[in-house]
Amino acid sequence: MIASTRHRSRLRVRLSSQCGSAVAAVIVSAIAAAGCTTANEVAEAEPNATIAATTPVVATSEALSAEPTVAATTPAPATTETLPATIEVVVATPPPTPPPTEAPTTVAPPATVPPVVETRQLGTSVEGRPITAVRRGTPGGRVVLIVGVIHGDENAGLAIIDLLEQYEVPAGVDLWLVDSMNPDGVANNDRHNANQVDLNRNFPADWGPIGVPGDGQYAGPSVASEPETQAMIAFITEIRPDLVMWYHQDLFRISPGKGRDGAIRQRYADLVGLPVVSITGGIYTGVAATWARRTIDPGVAFIVELGATLTPEEADRHARAVLTIAAEPN
Ligand SMILES: [Zn+2]
Repeated sequence: MIASTRHRSRLRVRLSSQCGSAVAAVIVSAIAAAGCTTANEVAEAEPNATIAATTPVVATSEALSAEPTVAATTPAPATTETLPATIEVVVATPPPTPPPTEAPTTVAPPATVPPVVETRQLGTSVEGRPITAVRRGTPGGRVVLIVGVIHGDENAGLAIIDLLEQYEVPAGVDLWLVDSMNPDGVANNDRHNANQVDLNRNFPADWGPIGVPGDGQYAGPSVASEPETQAMIAFITEIRPDLVMWYHQDLFRISPGKGRDGAIRQRYADLVGLPVVSITGGIYTGVAATWARRTIDPGVAFIVELGATLTPEEADRHARAVLTIAAEPN
């Protein structure tokens, strides 16, 4: 519930995307015109991509985080001055037991599983907001890192992180959760960080200059110039995850991969019902997942493109799929 409370103010699921619409042709042309291509490291053409129809908006994660509301157990003030003395004895008895409907919900982890092993500040954003990682599960196990947001106006992944901060982590999984590596972008509902840099073009993976400040894919003045990028580079280099995932919106797909990487992508896609389709149309230098994949080799790093919206049921499916692939031998 702590996490849920912390995120609630940020769980604004967009009704529409800067990068998308329900019509594929509009999206493709918008991408080309605005340079607002959803970040992906796979540069393969897919001009006829079908975009999933929008689904009902997720309001908040509260329905899934369902923490029991504590019923008022204090009896109403007794108007003792008008009551017989025997009533005062009744008031002094222990408060009534809460009704059965107030019993703890199933989201509470068992006592044997610490809800959080560690919380670490990885760095600070341009505007001074902390970039925070929460560690759960089994230290020393298979290291898995999930990043909810890198593009600030693509924040549906926050709902998935919220659930992952509550669900029981399978044994043997050393799970790290970064709700947003771009907290300024989330606060400002902006794809970029506060320096107007597209953080997913700023990583040291074939980095090259793209655009000028404010452009959709502005890559920054130099490689890894941004504090958010530097924080993630230091963190991933240290923990060396075997699996890293970044959530984006709103192309509703996962790009195909090869070998072990491709098999895990396909498995995740099957679990959540996303098509495995290439993503194209942008300049894909300086991409975080590409840098991570090279750094953690033979580890796996990939992007999940959610739709324009994410229902609570979909968020639940994604969170459970993360835990499934994290625990599977592969
Ligand atoms: Zn994106």
